[in-house]
Amino acid sequence: MKNIAYYNGKTAPIEEMMVPMNDRACYFGDGVYDATCVVNHVPMAFDDHIDRIYRSAKLIDIDIPMEKAEMKRMLQELVDQVEGDTLFLYWQVTRGVGMRNHPYSGAGDKPSIWAFVRPSKMRDPFGVYKCITVEDKRFFYCNIKTINLLPAVMANEKAMEAGCDEAIFHRGDRVTECSHSNVHILKNGTLYTAPCDELILPGITRAHILNICKANGIPVVEEPFTLEDMMNADEVFFSSSSALTCRIGEIDGRKVGLKDEKTFSVIRDGYQKEIRREAGLA
Ligand code: PLP
Repeated sequence: MKNIAYYNGKTAPIEEMMVPMNDRACYFGDGVYDATCVVNHVPMAFDDHIDRIYRSAKLIDIDIPMEKAEMKRMLQELVDQVEGDTLFLYWQVTRGVGMRNHPYSGAGDKPSIWAFVRPSKMRDPFGVYKCITVEDKRFFYCNIKTINLLPAVMANEKAMEAGCDEAIFHRGDRVTECSHSNVHILKNGTLYTAPCDELILPGITRAHILNICKANGIPVVEEPFTLEDMMNADEVFFSSSSALTCRIGEIDGRKVGLKDEKTFSVIRDGYQKEIRREAGLA
């Protein structure tokens, strides 16, 4: 198949899938999601993503009506039906179907499980990308991978309109993360990345990058850094499960980074190697 969608046990091509209007996703964005790239029909860092969606769900009082192993099996069955070397796997759990009403105790039959798989193209890991900065106007639940994404959607649209690849969020001086990725800097051979508090999503790629740094003797500082730190860094890059690691060469029209390819390439190549190994390609 070219793509596939799933909703509470039903499957169909995504363009044909119908969902109930009263699913609380439609009115409130009342749910959580996760996503990863699939290489050679192997979902990357699958267990990490499964664990995170259960963690996100728990943080908003959703009890997922499916065991982790069953969720993995169901998603793998979807993946196996779609053609392509690289795919995008997305899934979400919403509070369920019920008449529109803000409080959720007693609302919704039971949580709904949604998923889709479609072909995707990986970004060029050797590319140099452009970003804009955008004031971070999101709320304080950024550690939860909720489907409430309006500020992220608006920031990403702004980036696209400016001919850029990502929007980097900041709260005042402090850089938080990007619209759909984490952002990191290198200075004098040390990796600086924002700490995992309620202002950022604890990225799975971020966690793998930190492990690669530790394994290769690259010091890591998990502390807030500023816009000025970022503009003066030796390297700036963003990371996510679908973008992997993307080196940034321009922010708000100003040249940045591109001064420590040696350290950046240890991270980039280390992660590429991990992906190939996991996909059974190396
Ligand atoms: N931060 C935000 C806001 C995101 O939406 C994402 C990915 O979707 C990330 C960071 C990167 O997370 P991961 O590496 O787990 O894909």
